[in-house]
Parts: sequence; structure tokens; C-alpha cells
Amino acid sequence: MRLTDKTALITGAGRGIGRAIAEAFAREGARVAIADLDHAGAEAAAQAIRDAGGEAMGLAMDVTDEDAVENGVTQVAETWGGVDIAVANAGIQHIDPVDRLAFADWRKVIAVHLDGGFLVSRACLRRMYAGGRGGTMLLMGSVHSKEASPLKSPYVAAKHGLLGLCRAIAKEGAEHGVRANLICPGFVRTPLVDKQIPEQARELGISEESVIRDVMLKHTVDQEFTTLEDVAEVAVHLAAFPSAALTGQSVVVSHGWHMQ
Ligand code: NAD
Repeated sequence: MRLTDKTALITGAGRGIGRAIAEAFAREGARVAIADLDHAGAEAAAQAIRDAGGEAMGLAMDVTDEDAVENGVTQVAETWGGVDIAVANAGIQHIDPVDRLAFADWRKVIAVHLDGGFLVSRACLRRMYAGGRGGTMLLMGSVHSKEASPLKSPYVAAKHGLLGLCRAIAKEGAEHGVRANLICPGFVRTPLVDKQIPEQARELGISEESVIRDVMLKHTVDQEFTTLEDVAEVAVHLAAFPSAALTGQSVVVSHGWHMQ
């Protein structure tokens, strides 16, 4: 049990990668708050953890809404006495070339990742600093924090931005015992990715099989998708790491798609 007695908040954890991280944290002994725009999804994920013997709460939270983030983090801190680990994971994708991208779509993607990453970090850092027991901030980046792909400019820009936010938090947080790291997955089969496959096939004029083989997995060493378990294990490792030897880092988990 690597996270016994820790309290963790994970955003966008009603499904997909966030839910897998929440389940892995709970298996390691943490109390987990599952925040999601989809309240029913957050509740169902929390109930599944409670059914398995863990401690979990579901929270309705739009990470782009300052009050919603503040209220959600306050609820967690008041219920469980603080926040030790926060994972800013909520995310969305939008497929369009830059010249045809509506400003509203650009803003929406930037808001969820960057405004959300900032608001969740700020609210949780205040708790970690005030509690005097430090903590761990994890931000969900992507291989797109390091590389670009066509048709995903707001996502690529936002994920590069999260790398900067993570490094800034690592520098500021050190004196308060807070570490910050960025997780950078390759493609993982979640609803976010499944939705892109037909969209990219349409935009690129190729088959869905070709999107998977020749676009998504082309540069991996083994033509394999990264799994939920792979990403969750990296999150547990980073959350449990015992010292600031590991802070301000970005860990790529992508079957060799990107090597750094
Ligand atoms: P997903 O679509 O399966 O899940 C995303 C969750 O975020 C959903 O439950 C959704 O309701 C929630 N969400 C969306 N907007 C929100 C908001 N404004 N406030 C609160 N919650 C909101 O996606 P996923 O694949 O699990 O992605 C999770 C994170 O991992 C994202 O940041 C994504 O960019 C990143 N990521 C995913 C992949 C991948 O291949 N799936 C790769 C690299 C990085």
C-alpha cells in the first residue's frame, strides 16, 4: 500500500484515464474524490470504489468554473482534513485544421486543459501549503506536450502549456514540500480517442484502420496502445515518490512513440 492515509482529488475521473487513476490510488490505500462534469459518472465511479472496500466521494465539478473548483476542493478538504494529492486530468479534444478552427472551439479546449489545470492546481496548492504537510500535484499532459500532430492545434498548445505550468508549480512548491509532475501518455483507448478515429478518417480521407495503424501507432516501437493500467501505475509511482528528486518532470508513457 503506497498511498495509505493520503487524500487525493482527481478531475475528469468519472471515466477513462482519470477513473483508472482513482481506482489505482484507492487500491493503494488513498481516499479519493472523483470530480467530473458528469456527476452521475463521478458517483458511479465512487460507488464502484466503495463497493470494492475503498473510501471515495463523487463530486460534480466543471474545472473551468472557478467557484465550482473552489467549492469542490473545500468539500474534500473539510471532509477529509486536507488534500495530499491532486490530479488535474479533465480533458477534451477537438479535430480541425487551424485555418478552419472556430475561435469558440479553440477557447473551449484551452479552457478545459489550461484554465482547469490552473484552477485545480491553485485550489489544491492552497490546501497543501496551509496544511504544512506538503503534497503532490500531477497534471495530465500527453505526448502532445512534446510533439505536434495535425488537426489538434488547441490540444497541442494546451498540453505544451501544462508542461510550463507544471515546471512553475515545481519551482514554487518546493519550499512548501509540494512536488509537481506531468504525465504524458501516448494513445490510450478511451472515449476521447475512440471519438477521434472516425473524425480523423474523415478529415484525412483514409480508413479507420489506417488512422490506428498509420497515424496513432505508427511511431510506437510495438504498434501497441498505451493502457489505462500503464498510466495509472505511473501516476501511483509519481504520487508515492518520497522526495523532491522527482519534481518538475514530464514522464512519457507511450510505447516509445516519443523518446526524450
Ligand atoms: P475521456 O473523454 O474518457 O474522459 C475525460 C473525462 O473528463 C470525462 O469523464 C469528462 O466528463 C471529463 N470532463 C470533460 N470536461 C470537463 C470539465 N470541464 N470539467 C470536469 N470534467 C470534465 O478522456 P481520457 O482519454 O480519459 O482523457 C483524460 C486525460 O488524459 C485528458 O486530459 C486527456 O487529454 C489526457 N490524455 C488522453 C490520452 C488518450 O489517448 N486517451 C492520451 C494522452 C493524454
